[in-house]
Amino acid sequence: MSWNDMAHHGRILIVDDAMENIQILHQALEDDHDVLFAMNGEKALQLAQHQLPDLILLDAMMPDMDGYAVCRALRTSPVTRDIPIIFVTALKTPEDETRALDAGAADFITKPVNAAVVRARVRTQLIVKRQSDALRELTLTDGLTGVSNRRAFDETLANEWRRCARAQVPMALIMVDIDQFKNFNDAYGHQAGDGCLQQIAGAMRRAAGRPQDLVARYGGEEFAILLPQEDLHGAEGVARKLLDEVSLLSIPHAHSIVTPWVSVSMGVTSVTPSDRVESSTLVQRADALLYQAKAAGRNRYLSAGEAP
Ligand code: GH3
Ligand code: MG
Ligand code: MG
Repeated sequence: MSWNDMAHHGRILIVDDAMENIQILHQALEDDHDVLFAMNGEKALQLAQHQLPDLILLDAMMPDMDGYAVCRALRTSPVTRDIPIIFVTALKTPEDETRALDAGAADFITKPVNAAVVRARVRTQLIVKRQSDALRELTLTDGLTGVSNRRAFDETLANEWRRCARAQVPMALIMVDIDQFKNFNDAYGHQAGDGCLQQIAGAMRRAAGRPQDLVARYGGEEFAILLPQEDLHGAEGVARKLLDEVSLLSIPHAHSIVTPWVSVSMGVTSVTPSDRVESSTLVQRADALLYQAKAAGRNRYLSAGEAP
């Protein structure tokens, strides 16, 4: 992607209580961007949550909820926390500047606005945003398989654990381990082993397809599938789907003691989280079930729900 492309086509939310100001900003930006607008803070927060703009141009002075209050509210939600905000303000003192930056603004533009300045400042913020998004994506992704890495799994488990505890809904976890994978590597080579890991990761993505499901490489040839707001019954459905998907791959494995093809074993568990219980107990339980599935002959899942 070129430098220019990176700054184009972003979605921009303009927030101002005066229609004429919105029109001026809209005209400056409409050729290169997808532009939304709101005329008060409340509407701005709604739009930000649901339309996920890449950047917000925010008027500092508005009746009811002013720009600083909007800025603080945006920072409290994980969905809108990382959206850069440029303040657009008639105020010019160093105190005004400091106040805007303290509230979490990335930059600010003083009124009356100049179209070329607006375009240039917007462009810079969009590029910074895209670079930091790409970097964050990299730090959370497993390089070989493209699924989430251990760090992303740990973060998501902690967040979903709290969220499901609050809502008092269950969450499920499947620990997945490839059977006889050491033999596979020994027989076909490490590169073929890497290719196998990639294919199994693809099968897991097909098996766990809801937007909130998380497939992660837990370590080596062990994977974790986190299923927020899912009970044991639903998780068993995902496990069966994964057994099907893996057998459809039909990756030859002449040295497996289980089947002539690559297979996986799984431990499946679910719990309704509570603040009194550590999220690591979910991992421990799924791991114990995985171990039992191995001992019971591999190429299968074993499941158990909440302890009474
Ligand atoms: P089991 O059926 O009991 O799970 O036996 P296993 O051979 O799969 O288990 P073991 O833990 O003994 O071996 C895991 C193997 O996975 C050993 C290691 O070389 C291989 N492995 C781990 N990470 C990678 C990787 O990134 N690429 C490749 N090619 N192999 C890997
Ligand atoms: Mg294994
Ligand atoms: Mg292993």
